[in-house]
Amino acid sequence: MRKKRKILAVAIASLFVLSMLAGCGPDSTQTQGDSGTLEGRLASAEPITMTIHMHYGNINVFDDNAPIYKEAAKLTNVTLRGTASAAATDSNQAFNTMLVESKLPDIIHGTSTNTNKAGMEGAMIPLEDLVKQYAPNIQKYFDTHPEALRGSLAADGHLYYIPCIYEKGPAMGWFIRQDWLDKLSLPVPTTVEEYYNTLKAFRDNDPNGNGKKDEIPYFDRSKSVKNLVPLFGVDKNYYAVGPDGKIYAPTATEGYKTAMTELAKWYAEGLIDQEVYSRGSTTREQLLGDNIGGATHDWFSSSLSFNDKLKDLVPGFRLATIDPPADINGEVKNASPRTTLNGNGWGISKDNQHVAETMRFFDFWFTEAGITLNSYGVEGTDYTIVNGVKEYTQQAKDYAGGVPSYMGTFGSREIGIPVSLEAEIKGMNKDAAEGFAMYVEKDYTISEFPNLPFNVEENRVIKDKGAAIKTYVDETTQGWIMGNTDVAATWDKYVNDLKAMGLDEVISAYQSAYDRYQSL
Ligand code: CA
Repeated sequence: MRKKRKILAVAIASLFVLSMLAGCGPDSTQTQGDSGTLEGRLASAEPITMTIHMHYGNINVFDDNAPIYKEAAKLTNVTLRGTASAAATDSNQAFNTMLVESKLPDIIHGTSTNTNKAGMEGAMIPLEDLVKQYAPNIQKYFDTHPEALRGSLAADGHLYYIPCIYEKGPAMGWFIRQDWLDKLSLPVPTTVEEYYNTLKAFRDNDPNGNGKKDEIPYFDRSKSVKNLVPLFGVDKNYYAVGPDGKIYAPTATEGYKTAMTELAKWYAEGLIDQEVYSRGSTTREQLLGDNIGGATHDWFSSSLSFNDKLKDLVPGFRLATIDPPADINGEVKNASPRTTLNGNGWGISKDNQHVAETMRFFDFWFTEAGITLNSYGVEGTDYTIVNGVKEYTQQAKDYAGGVPSYMGTFGSREIGIPVSLEAEIKGMNKDAAEGFAMYVEKDYTISEFPNLPFNVEENRVIKDKGAAIKTYVDETTQGWIMGNTDVAATWDKYVNDLKAMGLDEVISAYQSAYDRYQSL
């Protein structure tokens, strides 16, 4: 593996443009390794059938009849048969039950945690040398995206699964009622101070025009105010990496104290939903549907779908994507990167008798043909090519739940693959596609916290002490925001309590895993 961390200085913007022009992922029609003599995309000279365990998210199982996999079988000569029961409702339990069977399925799909554990216990085989030998497209991807490989390695340094990978980009963004700004003749807020003043104007100036002071300026369905914390220059995660490469807990910094002091004031002034800690998942339906919600921070597709949903119910309704307001240090950044390694992938069991064929089959999903098949489905039925550009068919676009649901129904799964960003954007509604693309182009989303190869002991510390610390931070934060306790009066006790609960040990566990990650 690589000794030195290499950061690719390629701007997201240019990646985006490239992917829009050429489709993402390595371009190759050859899938054989240097020892292979197969033609085209074939993974096996003769048609073979292999078994696969796939059960994830407590609901997704492999579908033997999925059109996508029937097409893949035509292209590769490999047919898969699922072994997991659709009746099972607990993916972890299904994985563990599978592992004790006398003969394991050929291919094992699962979470990074489960596959790495199975690998280190001997149930799955290391793949790094096999990738070099049989999977040129996967190797090429890892060569150009070293963080995808490094973030997938187990604590023993081996690769046990090929990961499902998304391109870098924003997870969430900032959204505001453009129709309310227009009504009050206000510009889009660009700083924390302007954002604060805009929320105050929403509170005071009756933008919904019903003569009542019923507006809820900022709302958030996360049951927290964490999405506002970065406005004060503080990382919103429990643990972060400093510029010195040291892990620290942002919630124990002076910056967090400032953020809490300010946000408690915002809450007390009625700028933040008074029910932010209880309203939860249906917050947007309630507050946007009742025309009383003003601004939020959330996911693109689902948030901007309200422009379509409410266009007849709330006259003039328009939720707009805005640039992140500059934080108190003047930095404009989006603090909600998405997780590029989605946590699922597939690998090879110790009982697999077709290792070379399996690796070539895995490699197919890193070719343009494989990426297109997983993201767009079958040409003619699911997508067509118009002037060289792939477009989903009307049948796919009109499907209840949208294109992602359509593709899921026809067999698209979170397998080891680089998911097409172009397809993702095309699968969004128009407003979401524009907002998401704007965030990608402007490239102000911060780097994600890396996926660390924790060992057993580190995991134990994080589970035992880290979980209790998170709960304590959340409860204390809620007390401060709601005004039940005073930030200044209780801050020192809070920091001392965190230390007494083992914060330094948890940070050490993260640090050793992070140092290992850097050395792999
Ligand atoms: Ca009103």
